[in-house]
Amino acid sequence: MLSTLKKRLEELKVSDIMIPAEKVAHVQLGNPLEHALLVLVESGYSSVPVLDLDFKYQGTIAKTPILKNVMGMERYEMEKLSERKVEDVMNKEQPSVTSDTDFLTAIKVVIDNAFVCVVDEQNYFVGILTRRAILKEVNKSIYMNA
Ligand code: AMP
Repeated sequence: MLSTLKKRLEELKVSDIMIPAEKVAHVQLGNPLEHALLVLVESGYSSVPVLDLDFKYQGTIAKTPILKNVMGMERYEMEKLSERKVEDVMNKEQPSVTSDTDFLTAIKVVIDNAFVCVVDEQNYFVGILTRRAILKEVNKSIYMNA
């Protein structure tokens, strides 16, 4: 049973289960932190992709580092949210995968990340792959093979 499960998962590609770019909330380089926080709070996500003006993937930005960045000695200095930019806080080290990355490789990436960005060969952003989508597919495959 395990080998059938593994074979089915091996055949899947990231493109089969990713959320396409047009449905993904994102922010852009140059946006003030105020805008990024608004997108994060309004979307309800703790982290979203950061793109450049050409729609190329640059990293991710999360709520907690934004709030830490504007924390003063005694209070959150909220006025700094409009002075500082996304690039002052974003995580530039987040890995990405491509649409034809196989599923088993993608699983390894989402062990440490709630989602991973999907890019084409020129680094244009095409979507995200979430832990939820991966777990749903693994769950489906287990019962298909039962
Ligand atoms: P999930 O596995 O569905 O809980 O999603 C994991 C993470 O992926 C979320 O916490 C968000 O950071 C990100 N995410 C999921 N869906 C979207 C979306 N439509 N737009 C932006 N980020 C998303």
